[in-house]
Amino acid sequence: MEKTEGIVLRAIDYGETNKIVTLLTSRYGKIAALAKGANKPQSRLASVSQPFIHGHWLLYGGHSGMASVSQADLIESFRGIREDLHRSAYSACMAEFTDRVLEERASYPGVFQLLLHMFHGLQDGKDPSVLFQIFQMKMLFTAGIQPDLQHCAYCGKPLDRSSRFSIRFSGPVCHDCQEADPHGIWMKPNILKLLKLFQQIDITRLGKIDLSEEVKRQSDRIIRQYIEEHGGIYLKSRQFLDQLDKYQL
Ligand SMILES: [Zn+2]
Repeated sequence: MEKTEGIVLRAIDYGETNKIVTLLTSRYGKIAALAKGANKPQSRLASVSQPFIHGHWLLYGGHSGMASVSQADLIESFRGIREDLHRSAYSACMAEFTDRVLEERASYPGVFQLLLHMFHGLQDGKDPSVLFQIFQMKMLFTAGIQPDLQHCAYCGKPLDRSSRFSIRFSGPVCHDCQEADPHGIWMKPNILKLLKLFQQIDITRLGKIDLSEEVKRQSDRIIRQYIEEHGGIYLKSRQFLDQLDKYQL
């Protein structure tokens, strides 16, 4: 295989001395590879075979069975993320989400750059909760379950304003259709705009997005419930994040 950039989504021990790393690569999409000896401290692969590492990877084999790492060079270790409990919890959520949504060795244009931009944003001190929400809204497209935010999810009329998001009907509903879903989530008028922004924003030009805690909580709740209901995705890393919030760590 040719050399490729890759981010480590997951690294698990394999035997006493090896690791299996799941990489998101720019060239081959998601791919698992055996990193022989990566658990030995003196191994060249030890420091790069860690979650969130961005590097140049040279892989071989894998035509039948798992690929192996023949060489890996560090590009960015994201130290600023791994030294911060919250930021590493958020990057773990993003990595796990990516791993769950992507099939191995399939092409998903833009996902590698998306995750890389998100990690850089986390590293640069941007609001991790906002980054995670943007990331999820973008990944819904990749997962094939992107909600239509332009039309009422019940009657199909074009929609400018909405104060209810229906998880059941997969989107916002207009004023006339509010009663159609008694479990529709109430949202402030600007939440719909925000969700649209998250869906469409150009991540390469991501500036500072200042939002109140209440607005962030509302949009987070909608995105999370939508993903759990329509994607069946419940993240283990998200539970850890919940614990951090619960104990206000
Ligand atoms: Zn309607």
